[in-house]
Amino acid sequence: MQGLSLSITVDLEDWYHIPSVCGSPFSVYDGVDDFFSRWRHRYDYLSEPTARVLDLLDEFGVTATFFIVADLLNHYPDLVERVVERGHEIACHGLDHSCKIHPGTREPLISCSEFEERTLLAKEMLEGVSGEEVIGYRAPNVLVAGWMLDSLEEIGFKYDSSVCVNSLYNKTDSNLQGVFSHPYHPKGSLLEPGEGRSFVEFPWSYLDVFGFKIPSSGGPMLRFLGSSIIAMGLQQSMSRGHTVFYFHPLDISLEHFPKVGRGRPFYWAVKGKVVEKRIGTILRKFQHVRKITLKEAYLESKGQLVIDG
Ligand SMILES: [Zn+2]
Repeated sequence: MQGLSLSITVDLEDWYHIPSVCGSPFSVYDGVDDFFSRWRHRYDYLSEPTARVLDLLDEFGVTATFFIVADLLNHYPDLVERVVERGHEIACHGLDHSCKIHPGTREPLISCSEFEERTLLAKEMLEGVSGEEVIGYRAPNVLVAGWMLDSLEEIGFKYDSSVCVNSLYNKTDSNLQGVFSHPYHPKGSLLEPGEGRSFVEFPWSYLDVFGFKIPSSGGPMLRFLGSSIIAMGLQQSMSRGHTVFYFHPLDISLEHFPKVGRGRPFYWAVKGKVVEKRIGTILRKFQHVRKITLKEAYLESKGQLVIDG
């Protein structure tokens, strides 16, 4: 019995990766390549807050899992290297953060083989920098489908951490029946729990209030709801099993991002120092909880690793 445990995860992406700007059926640019061929202004709003995130994690002695958009390697010299140097787990957040299923209909926007080809390229690019096997994936915009997990397993991934079961929204192609906030083995081609598969899903945490599930893993919820609800949800979810907290370096950026794309001002209405303080509050509150990377949590689930609590 290992007791309560938590993974701190960071999604490494820049301001133009969100669906209103790039990589969705309603974005201003078709994708990152289109963005870089047309954008003539400064694009890097990511390096500075990432440096602060790395310092913050060091301050709390946290080794995190970084889900990284692989295309950053082409445009941000040394950024991913700096994350590797600080000893964090490198995981994959897609080649360019484009949506793989339609945000409205959940129909595939890409064929299985194209998804596998692009994601394998992303995996290999990240492995080239980390020097280690990349085994974890998080779907861009957490738009995830059962067929994607089959493909991920096919090309060598061992776990995914994208499923967010809650009462407010569902960004998957499944009704998530029987999915809770603790790690599980998904059925083949589905996101529901099953048996006999080694691939692991690390779903996000939620706060259950009389059956109403409030998402509490972080990200926009940390920006809009504050740290108390997130902390309560993490605490409650940890009592069900290992759980996940996440944020973006952009969440603590002090700058105004370029105004491109619909919905942008609202999406980033709350960020900067206030959110940095909230992340600090969460890390302080759970300072004495056993923190492991998702790779360690995966290996532990397979009995391959035992970490003293
Ligand atoms: Zn993302």
